[in-house]
Amino acid sequence: MSPEVDVVVVGAGAAGIAAARLLRARGRTVRLLEAGGRIGGRAFTETASLGAPFDHGASWIHVAERNPLTPIAREMGFTLRDERRRVRDILLFEGRPASAAERAAHDAACEAWEAAVEARDAAGDADIPLASAVPRDGPWDATVSHWFSSIISGVEAEDFSLRDYVATGLDGANLQVAEGFGTLVARLGEGLPVTLRTPVAQLRWDGAGVRAEGAWGALRAGAAIVTVSTGVLAAEGIRFDPALPDDIQAAIAGLPQGLLSKVALRAAGEARLGLGAFARLGRQAQGAGDHPMSWMLWPWGRDHAVGFIGGATAWALAREGPAAAGAFARAELARYFGAAEVARAFAPGAVATGWAEDPLFLGAYSHARVGCYGARATLRDAVLAGGRLRFAGEACHTRTAGTVGGAWESGERAAREVDAALG
Ligand SMILES: Cc1cc2nc3c(=O)[nH]c(=O)nc-3n(C[C@H](O)[C@H](O)[C@H](O)COP(=O)(O)OP(=O)(O)OC[C@H]3O[C@@H](n4cnc5c(N)ncnc54)[C@H](O)[C@@H]3O)c2cc1C
Repeated sequence: MSPEVDVVVVGAGAAGIAAARLLRARGRTVRLLEAGGRIGGRAFTETASLGAPFDHGASWIHVAERNPLTPIAREMGFTLRDERRRVRDILLFEGRPASAAERAAHDAACEAWEAAVEARDAAGDADIPLASAVPRDGPWDATVSHWFSSIISGVEAEDFSLRDYVATGLDGANLQVAEGFGTLVARLGEGLPVTLRTPVAQLRWDGAGVRAEGAWGALRAGAAIVTVSTGVLAAEGIRFDPALPDDIQAAIAGLPQGLLSKVALRAAGEARLGLGAFARLGRQAQGAGDHPMSWMLWPWGRDHAVGFIGGATAWALAREGPAAAGAFARAELARYFGAAEVARAFAPGAVATGWAEDPLFLGAYSHARVGCYGARATLRDAVLAGGRLRFAGEACHTRTAGTVGGAWESGERAAREVDAALG
């Protein structure tokens, strides 16, 4: 089949945009096929719902010292704010503000938790659930596990590979983007040859090239880079013909999507609950079934608060719909301020993100199942059709998986490999 373009890139998120930019810089013809009505994927900023930029997906430039997007954002004039980890303006212990000693105990529990995880990983035993490696009996241990696993990684520690957790742990600085991280990624995609609302339903591949097909028609290309989430791949959102080899299918199954959901509430008036810009709230998990939200209030001095729900609770609320997430968020805030104050301080309604339900994502970001820590490298290194079919995206990064920076680097890597394969 004679190709219409050198490379078709499936999905115009961070990985797809990075891949397309690099290939074009090398003189290749490219076509990005994007199922949705916008570019950016899981980096998505909109201003309509809150009257200010709201990142439904990514909002922090993680591991900023080594993130390829840090210098790009600076050069493009974006406004960045360095945020330290784990600072809490209000931390509740047993339902009341923690004392200085209790805060210190919380911080010590975080340190001990991380040290235990690293020591167990360094021992080099077989992969085990993250939950099996962590302290359990201290007053803050369940809280710390919930924070690091359910909230930050979007998965319960029982279902998370210890090795993958350690390999992909986020360290260093976290930068927030005033204009929105999604705005940055969308700007980087400007001018690229993207066709929106073009879901690829089937990808035929052989040593001569690929053919992407959908209800919209078909496109022949010399090579393809597939950047859709592992959730979409596992749900067979794209059929491959011939079918993917067993080891690739196993790698996809070993890298499910976790879930982080956000709920934003708008202030009713000028009152700000006595808290300044970027105020952070957190509380102790009280018992096994208690899954606290984490909060940021008034980012950039704006009039909204953003709450984060992770892991099993986020999936359960996603099944119930956005109203349930809004009610859950208000009940959480009532633990800090009382229901009457919450009702006074916040306008009715809530903006809840919908990554779980959206068939173009089916979750927030990937984690490895226990025993599957090698799956990221398997997917990243898969050489199909003589190197003319490659996978890229956050799940394919063995260090900064689950991030925009990781997706970006993965897209660039796949682009270099496809470029070499095309000769
Ligand atoms: C709530 C939330 C918070 C997050 N917070 C952060 C953060 O603070 N910092 C950070 O770095 N990362 C964060 N992330 C993760 C980050 O957003 C992702 O890791 C990254 O954006 C993934 O990029 P990607 O290119 O791999 O995939 P995607 O962005 O998913 O791009 C894939 C694209 O493929 C499209 N697609 C799907 N199916 C098809 C099809 N059949 N045909 C054609 N196109 C298709 C999708 O519409 C999508 O645009 C967060 C994510 C979420 C959801």
